[in-house]
This record gives sequence, C-alpha cells and structure tokens, in this order.
Amino acid sequence: MKEVKYKRIILKLSGEALAGDKGFGIDKATIMNIAKQIKTLNELNVETSIVVGGGNFWRGKKSGVGMDRTTADYMGMLATVINALAMQDALESLGVFTRVQTAIEMRQIAEPYIRRKAVRHLEKGRVVIFAAGTGNPYFSTDTTAALRAAEIEADVILLAKKGVDGVYDSDPLLNPDAKKFEVIDYKDILNLGLGVMDSTAASLCMDNQIPIIVFGIEQPENIVKVVMGEKIGTQVKEV
Ligand code: UDP
Repeated sequence: MKEVKYKRIILKLSGEALAGDKGFGIDKATIMNIAKQIKTLNELNVETSIVVGGGNFWRGKKSGVGMDRTTADYMGMLATVINALAMQDALESLGVFTRVQTAIEMRQIAEPYIRRKAVRHLEKGRVVIFAAGTGNPYFSTDTTAALRAAEIEADVILLAKKGVDGVYDSDPLLNPDAKKFEVIDYKDILNLGLGVMDSTAASLCMDNQIPIIVFGIEQPENIVKVVMGEKIGTQVKEV
C-alpha cells in the first residue's frame, strides 16, 4: 500500500469549490470528483474530516447587505448544511460511510457536534463532515477548520481553493507578475494581509502550530496528491 504523509486531516472545501463553473449552487460532476478523491483517502485509511463552506449560496456579510449581521451569518451557516448534506450524499453513493455533525443542533438532519464522537467516527473509518461553521456569527468556515483541527488533533488542514493554486504575494487574477510562495509563515500571511484566509483562522493555526496546505481544487487528484506528500500549492507553517 502507498505511504500517506498525513493520517488525520481536515479538508476545507469552500462553497465555491462545489459550484464548479456555475459559481452558484452545487455542480454534480464537481462534487462527485471530490467525493471520489475522498473515497481514495478513505481506502488508504486516512482519517478524513471535511469542513464545508457556504459561499456558493450565501455569505453573511456580502449577501446580507442591509440586514442584521447576525441573521445574515446564521443564513450562511445554514447554507453550509446544504453543502454538507450534498457531500454526504455524494460520498454515500460511492459506498463511503459518513456522518454529518452540525454546530447548531438540527437532530432530524444530523448529529450535533460532539468532539469525542467525531474522533470515534474517524477511528472507525467514517468520514465526518462538519457543518454550520462554529455555530457563531462573525466567524468563517476557515476559522471552523482551524478550530476543529485543533480539537480533533488533525495533522494538517488542506485548504482547497477554486481559481487559485496557492498563496501569492498579490492577487494573481489581477497581477500577472504575482509571485507564488512554496512555504510561508503564518505571521507573513497576517503581516502582509494576504487574503488567502481570514486573520482569525490564520492566528488560530499559528497559535496551535497547525500546518495548512493551500492548493487548487480544479486539477484532478490534487487532494490525494497532497495527502501523499506531493509538493503542490503553498505550505503555511512556522518558518
Ligand atoms: N458563518 C458564520 N460562522 C461560522 C461559519 C460561517 O457566521 O462559524 C457564516 C458567514 O456568514 C459566512 C457563511 O456562513 O459568510 C458561509 O461561510 P464561508 O463564507 O466561510 O464559506 P466559504 O467562503 O468557505 O464558501
């Protein structure tokens, strides 16, 4: 069997990553491609948990202009639950056992988030999908990934991005001369104000020494390649 580099991972999938080229909602082919890669990880006995975003449906601050921010953020958290159920469905259609855990209770739909249960599921080979973010407004699902990674003692966060394949010194979509980092320190993300993740997520990872790998999701097999230790994207760690 192939050697994997990481035994327990958090895969952060933004809502956009599930939307494919449509930019909104869920693209069947895209989600199935991601599900197939997660199935491969599952077969390699990588303990895999997923944090899903919701930006393909709703982003509190941006979509809820003129609304009460807290309400808008709760709507965003609900959007992540839609994505979590879609991810669960895609994985189970491939025969992968999964559990969705939500940070806001909705027991008819999913388990509530219980750390010990999540770890137990992982040990039993189930893929755990964390939904509804942290359960608190004013946070993001990147921060959720950092928090859950600390809680379940994940080896790494895989930050799968759509439209960009790593961390750059400026926006590569606007600046053709933007330089990509192979490795970057958390502090530089914060000091340079790089928009790859929000500062709460970056500082939580820094304080708890959780390595992050930022990479593009569009290239097929990238998730598996990163877990196998191929040097793809940008590593964020203490340098
Ligand atoms: N959200 C929140 N608290 C959390 C996580 C998410 O309020 O702990 C809300 C917030 O409004 C956010 C939305 O849910 O804009 C969707 O999450 P995010 O923007 O992180 O999704 P992504 O950009 O990864 O698709």
